[in-house]
Order: sequence, then C-alpha cells, then structure tokens
Amino acid sequence: MAELHNLRINQDRLWDSLMEMAKIGATPKGGCARLALTDLDKQGRDLFVRWCQEAGCTVSVDRMGNIFARRPGRNNTLPPVVTGSHLDTQPTGGKFDGVYGVLAGLEVVRALNDHNFETEAPIEVSVWTNEEGSRFAPAMVSSGVFAGVFTEDYGLGRADLDGRTIGDELKRIGYAGDLPVGGRKFKAFFEAHIEQGPILEAERKTIGVVQGIQGMRWFEVTVTGTDCHAGTTPMPRRRDAMLGCARIVERVHQIALDHAPGVSTVGLVKVMPNSRNTIPGSVFFSVDLRHPHDEELLKMTAALNAACSEICGALDLQYECREIWHSPASHFDEGCVGAVRRAAEERGYAWRDITSGAGHDAGYISRVAPTAMIFVPCADGISHNEVETATPSDLAAGCNVLLRAMLEHAV
Ligand SMILES: [Zn+2]
Repeated sequence: MAELHNLRINQDRLWDSLMEMAKIGATPKGGCARLALTDLDKQGRDLFVRWCQEAGCTVSVDRMGNIFARRPGRNNTLPPVVTGSHLDTQPTGGKFDGVYGVLAGLEVVRALNDHNFETEAPIEVSVWTNEEGSRFAPAMVSSGVFAGVFTEDYGLGRADLDGRTIGDELKRIGYAGDLPVGGRKFKAFFEAHIEQGPILEAERKTIGVVQGIQGMRWFEVTVTGTDCHAGTTPMPRRRDAMLGCARIVERVHQIALDHAPGVSTVGLVKVMPNSRNTIPGSVFFSVDLRHPHDEELLKMTAALNAACSEICGALDLQYECREIWHSPASHFDEGCVGAVRRAAEERGYAWRDITSGAGHDAGYISRVAPTAMIFVPCADGISHNEVETATPSDLAAGCNVLLRAMLEHAV
C-alpha cells in the first residue's frame, strides 16, 4: 500500500474522461448541451455509472435521481466521505462546469485503486440531479431536497416549459431510484469546481480554498408614473417611470460599490407601454443583490429601499419593491476548509481563500454535513459558455487536493 503523502491522481486519465464525457451533447463551438433528464443526460449518467462499476463501486440512486457510487472502506458502518457535483449543463454550456467535480471524484477512486489504498471510512462520488435549473427551476433542487430545504413532492413536481415533471422524466430515463432522499450522515462533503470567475487566473493561483457561498436576494421593482404624450407634455409636468428606473439602476450599482465585495445587477427591464413617443407610465425590473455576509446583504437591501423611496418621491412616482427569493450565505466547515488549505500547502500549489459568487450543490449540503469546496482557474473566468476551458494541470491539481482532503477525513 502506498504512503499517503505519495498518492497522486492520474492527470491524463482525468482529462481523457472529461473529453469522453464531453462528446455526449457536444456542440459545434466546443461546448456541451446536456440538459437535465434528457436522453443525453441519461447517456452521461450511464457512462458515469459504467465507469464507477468498472472501478469496483456499488451504485445506488435515490428518489430524486441523485447517484451515489460507493467505494467500501475497512469500516463500512462509518458515514462516508463524499464528493461530487452535477452532470447536467446549460443549453450552451461548457465541458467542465459540474462535470469536473463528478469526474474528479471518480479519479480519486481510480487513484486509490491504482495504489491499493484502503480507507477506514467508505468513499462516495455523488451526482446531483438538475443543478443548473435551466430546464427545471429552481437550480440545485435535488441537493436542496437532500438537505431538507425542499420537500420531495416539490422536487419531483418541478415541470419544464412543456409541462414534463422531474418525476416523470426520471422514470422515463430509468433514474427514479428507490433510496430515500437525504436523512443519512456524511462524514464530510467536498465539491471540486472551476471558479467560473476571473480571480484565481488573474492572481496566478492554482487552488481556491472556498470559504462559503455568498448570500443572494432577488427583488422585483415596479415604478409607476403616468403615460403621456412625448411632444406635448412639458418637462416639469412629467411623471416618467423610466427616469425613476434609470436613477434607481445607477444607485443599485453604487450600493454594491459602497458594500464591497458585494455585487448588484439589474438584468431584466420591461418598459410600458414601450412606445417611442409616449412617456413610460410604468417600468418593471429585477434587482439581484449578493454579498458573502448576511448582515451586509441586509444593509444593501435597506439601501435599495431607501433609494426607491427617495428617487420616486422626488419624481412624484409610486413604486413597489418586493423581495421574491432569498438564499442565505453559506459558511463552510472550518475542519473541511482547513483540510483543503493543508492539502494545497502540502502539494505546493499557490492558493488563496475565496468566496463563491455562484450557487453550488455544496451550499445546500453544507446545511446537513461538514462541507468545503475546491476551485481551480478557468480561462478568462468564462463559464456558462461553450468556450469555457481549464488546463489539464490545474484540473489535476484540484483533484490532487481533493484526494488529500478526502483522505484526511477517511483514513
Ligand atoms: Zn456547476
């Protein structure tokens, strides 16, 4: 049996597996379109399951279609050390988002097999159903059910635009398992993922030691004035909802700058009646506020409400600002985060602490198990895009850190 500190994963095998998986749903521009619970998702799942069985794992599936491939340990009454992510992609997605976390887990199993390395606790690789939320909203629904954030009925009942539900589609592709969803213990959970942002690449760091996932609040704002003739209404007499909207958008931007490292976005605007020679009587828009700390996010929310009130008051407009969704900040487990940092340090990789700007399955799992994430750089920080890419050596580094961090909990 190999010494623990000599264990390494196989970079070429990890890369080849990523490229093999990427053939399923390959797009002309080099990306992947493997939407949740389509025939292509089934093919991807089948390939993963076959690889896991070939690596000696037992595979089980729960009622949300989450897959768990288990490599036994010496003491199989211990809770498993688990790693995983998702195999579904965006419609114009890349080859690495999610898939990397799943296949890095498989590579950990294969590397342990190469060295005949026995762990004390069992190791499991998980695939979480419908992480992307592209075909079925909301995102991360099945890890959410696992963590008890959503009920199983809610999860199975989510429908796509054609009215087909997750429950029906799981049956159709043969992944409606019989394991109960959740309710069992993980010794630890790790998720390896590309960063999907530009920070690691810009600072030439190989490993992001993820501290948690930032909190998010979504709002819908409607500003109401009066529709009026664009030629005949003197400027002082106007109640222009678009002007109110524009000034609020400017303030939303400033709110994030005032609460660094918060971020804020207005990404959807509907102007009514949307006619070039009518002063807009009503504007509807979205506001997305995010911050790593919930208290700061609340301050950003208060600043948004103050901006709406002040700006609309001054322009004689009415407004409604409604919060429609809230996801609290996740703070990962100190022991698991420490294991990732120690692994990066021991392997000699340049690393930094980082907070995830995007949501991940690990966010929900962190509510029911000690959890951490490992980020690796992706080119130009681009993700949810067919050109998304990462280097074989960075991906291998993240996988070596994953192996080491998992072993710290499993030996
Ligand atoms: Zn992902």
